Amino acid sequence: MMTKQNSEIAKRRTFGIVAHPDAGKTTLTEKLLLFGGAIQEAGAVKSNKIKKSTTSDFMEIERQRGISVATSVMAFDYAGKKINILDTPGHKDFAEDTYRTLTAVDSVIVVIDVAKGVEEQTEKLVEVCRMRKTPVIVFINKMDRPGKEAFDLLDEVEQKLFLKVVPLSWPIGMGDRFQGVYNLFEERIVLFRPDNKQGRPEETIEFTDLEDPGLVRLIGQDAADELREEVEMIRGVYPAFDREVYLRGGVSPVFFGSAVNNFGVKELLDCFVRIAPPPLPRPTEERQVEPNEEQFAGFVFKIHANMDPRHRDRIAFLRICSGTFERNTNYLHVRQGRKLKFANPTSFMADRKEVIDAAYAGDVVGLYDSGNFKIGDTLTEGEELHFKGIPSFSPEQFRRVVNGDPMKSKQLAKGIDQLMDEGVAQLFTRGVDNAQIIGTVGALQFDVIQYRLEHEYGATVIYEPINLHKALWVSSADQKALDAFAERRRQQIALDKEGRMVYLAESAWTLQMAKDNHPEIVFHQTSEF
Ligand code: GDP
Repeated sequence: MMTKQNSEIAKRRTFGIVAHPDAGKTTLTEKLLLFGGAIQEAGAVKSNKIKKSTTSDFMEIERQRGISVATSVMAFDYAGKKINILDTPGHKDFAEDTYRTLTAVDSVIVVIDVAKGVEEQTEKLVEVCRMRKTPVIVFINKMDRPGKEAFDLLDEVEQKLFLKVVPLSWPIGMGDRFQGVYNLFEERIVLFRPDNKQGRPEETIEFTDLEDPGLVRLIGQDAADELREEVEMIRGVYPAFDREVYLRGGVSPVFFGSAVNNFGVKELLDCFVRIAPPPLPRPTEERQVEPNEEQFAGFVFKIHANMDPRHRDRIAFLRICSGTFERNTNYLHVRQGRKLKFANPTSFMADRKEVIDAAYAGDVVGLYDSGNFKIGDTLTEGEELHFKGIPSFSPEQFRRVVNGDPMKSKQLAKGIDQLMDEGVAQLFTRGVDNAQIIGTVGALQFDVIQYRLEHEYGATVIYEPINLHKALWVSSADQKALDAFAERRRQQIALDKEGRMVYLAESAWTLQMAKDNHPEIVFHQTSEF
């Protein structure tokens, strides 16, 4: 018999939506929540978009970051499943946040704008999914607008995202002539009706035989001819959908729709609950952790500072990987080697949050934290486990940090330490001169750091430009060779916050030279290798 715990876990579907900004992620999220009854009306979900990429308005950045706490996890029930959507910032400067959030999901929906096709940010994010073999569903959005031909778009997805695709629905026309989709799986036509704000049921008509004359009456001769021809082609070109292959990340089903018009969203959701994986096992350095284990284990994948100056605490987001997490229960903080308990573990719903007594593998809970956690920390019932797959990524922007106020050096050190633990950026200390260098994925973080150091820690940081191209972790099977390399390249060697050796390359050329001259050294793009 299934225990309560295991039947709860079997119901969980935890996923993330990724997209290039403006593709329609927020709109789609909102429509999904509407179907789940988690919100009553459109407009309830705030975009977490950092709209400005200029540096002038720090408060605005902070305000918008604040919003993204509220939308960090959105849970709702649908068709007997408990669905957790983990929000991912679309702005490229916050890509690392998104990469880390992807460590906490079991599957992903990728939203693509039919007119723009596959965009840069989508490529990067899907690459991270591919690395982990995360199952991906593709939603082609904005079909009410003129865009690329469906076949071309699928080719683009295959070529740029390296995903094998199988269309499960097929558009009938697009833009002005968009009439709906043919659901290839269920062999029925779903008619498009614009402006379906409240998500009324879509009008669907069975068509097991596309030669049925009723088809011409329904969508017109031209569209019918086109659809028949295209469906024949699809059946010839693409394999039949196989859930097992999808679950291995080997094939991605594709849907077409229009999120803003609430079209195709229910189909996507209905398919999602049928095929998407329940909580998956997760690797630790010691062993694989299975969701149904009796004992609880989980890891912190995101830390959010509280924007309210009266409450200095932060919220650490914990993905539960096995068992049941309970309120007011002692758990082992593995890195610190001590027990902690939580009086107010919080679940985040679309428009509210609530303290929970228990949460299960697949869920995400927010833990109020006064500085105990850093990204990647593990909590267990006592076992010494270290979850893998939460690496830092090689940064691309660098500044040297200098203390702007000698009276406040302690505050500066503490602030930098905590911000780095939150995963805002990475700190490297260069061996030769002890220079402190902050590396980030995007330029916006430098402003966030400066602003927060000042407002939360009372410290002043001055940035000095530093001529660096990349920071890469280095290792070698031969310790002597690594020592010799570090000695010869002393000027370019630094340690990250965990004491791992990093090579600071001034240019692509010097990096290439170092690689050519030292074949015995391996250069890593991520801190986990
Ligand atoms: P995000 O940046 O990916 O979260 O994108 P948003 O959900 O904020 O959407 C960006 C813009 O596209 C907004 O103005 C939406 O109203 C619009 N949009 C979203 N879905 C559709 C759609 O299906 N058709 C059209 N025409 N516009 C859409």
